[in-house]
Amino acid sequence: MYDAVVLGGGYSGLAAARSLMRGGAGSLLLEASGGLGGAGRCGPVAGESVEWFYHHIKPHDTELLELIGEMGLTGSLLWQETSMAFYLEGRLYPFSRPQDLLRFAPFNLADKLRFCAGMLSSRFTQSQNLTGMSAKDWIVRHWGQSVYHKMMAPMMRNKFGIPPERVCAGFLHGRIKGLAATKAKGVSGEMLGYLDGGLDRLARRLGDELTQGADVRLNSPATALERTKDGYLVHAGGQSHAARVVINTLPLNRFALLPVNFSFESRVKYQGVACALMALDRTLELPYWTNILEPGFSSKVVVNQSLLGHHRANLVYCSAYLADEHPLITAPANQVRDTYLKDLRAMVGPVELVDCLVTQSPVATPVFDVDYHQQTHDLQNRLPGVFFAGNATIYPHSRTISSVICSGRRAAGMALERLASGSRAA
Ligand SMILES: Cc1cc2nc3c(=O)[nH]c(=O)nc-3n(C[C@H](O)[C@H](O)[C@H](O)COP(=O)(O)OP(=O)(O)OC[C@H]3O[C@@H](n4cnc5c(N)ncnc54)[C@H](O)[C@@H]3O)c2cc1C
Repeated sequence: MYDAVVLGGGYSGLAAARSLMRGGAGSLLLEASGGLGGAGRCGPVAGESVEWFYHHIKPHDTELLELIGEMGLTGSLLWQETSMAFYLEGRLYPFSRPQDLLRFAPFNLADKLRFCAGMLSSRFTQSQNLTGMSAKDWIVRHWGQSVYHKMMAPMMRNKFGIPPERVCAGFLHGRIKGLAATKAKGVSGEMLGYLDGGLDRLARRLGDELTQGADVRLNSPATALERTKDGYLVHAGGQSHAARVVINTLPLNRFALLPVNFSFESRVKYQGVACALMALDRTLELPYWTNILEPGFSSKVVVNQSLLGHHRANLVYCSAYLADEHPLITAPANQVRDTYLKDLRAMVGPVELVDCLVTQSPVATPVFDVDYHQQTHDLQNRLPGVFFAGNATIYPHSRTISSVICSGRRAAGMALERLASGSRAA
């Protein structure tokens, strides 16, 4: 019998399994796919191994940076000042430096002043104080109707996939604060980091370390979870594994499919993503990050990956968060590729593909609804001996690898306490 079974080998599962191992608990990590790293995994494109979803590291991603250090990879971190822009009305509007706001033609003078006032007021607000408030109400109050309609509402639709009146203000505020924190002194854009060679290097080192004290099984999707008198029985890959406690990092709607002799319900909804990593025949004159506000474009963000890291190929991500039933989530890869390539050509003119890696997921992120806090506040107490980590548990922080590492450690801490109290009782 294991002390703990960890469901999922993304960064929350890896962090949880590592903390369990360090705390002396015997654990089994079950991962459905053929590799560790979850959404942060890499795939092959034009002969390189690159994250299938764009991933950058922020200077305040403390837990991730620490982990990179502990795995001996700090020397491979590349830091770069990056820039961002908006694409709308058929034009690219740079938006990194204060003077870019002055030149931002879609805003009139009043909008520009309201924008500054909104940014300033968000500095002095605590995300927790916005719990239960809609992002629309908060933005309209501090930025005004015009800025809301011209910039914030379309951006929120792109980012959160639900109407802005349903987006939780606390979560949006956390994102805005996170953005401000990446602006280093004397630098006009954001300072962003990238692990040279890709995040797979980190996942592999973590996997190697785990083999010293934990069992790691790839290609082993958990298919059922049974409650027993002294813990749980996890069914995966035709085998059953008994454990005293379970740490779940799977999306809650996926976890809800596992219980056999007990029930677990979750109101948390998920948003999908369809992302194309393209290797192109030429470099693009685009900033690192372009938010597409142009109606009619399927791609909502273009990330010029060649500006981050040392890549041999000209790499660009075109991507969009989408409602989980959106056709692009299940469309054949070449349809996603062609749809996004058409958008890209409309932006930058003729460009040819050398290679392309399309990745789709119906459960990329929870939808941080206005009542998200109520949906999850009792999560850790719903099932005795089951602890939750991952994106569903990080509110009101940004969903980053760093915050899920933190959540994995926290869940492992609770699991270790429970294991210790169980042994004391015995
Ligand atoms: C498009 C996109 C861009 C992003 N950009 C950034 C960024 O720039 N910086 C940043 O820090 N973060 C970024 N993130 C967020 C980051 O990737 C996630 O927060 C983090 O990877 C989540 O880790 P996790 O372990 O909680 O979940 P996941 O990575 O989703 O891992 C869950 C794991 O569970 C496995 N699994 C599923 N079902 C089962 C089952 N039944 N049994 C066993 N295993 C199962 C999956 O295969 C997966 O490996 C981005 C995410 C996306 C989608």
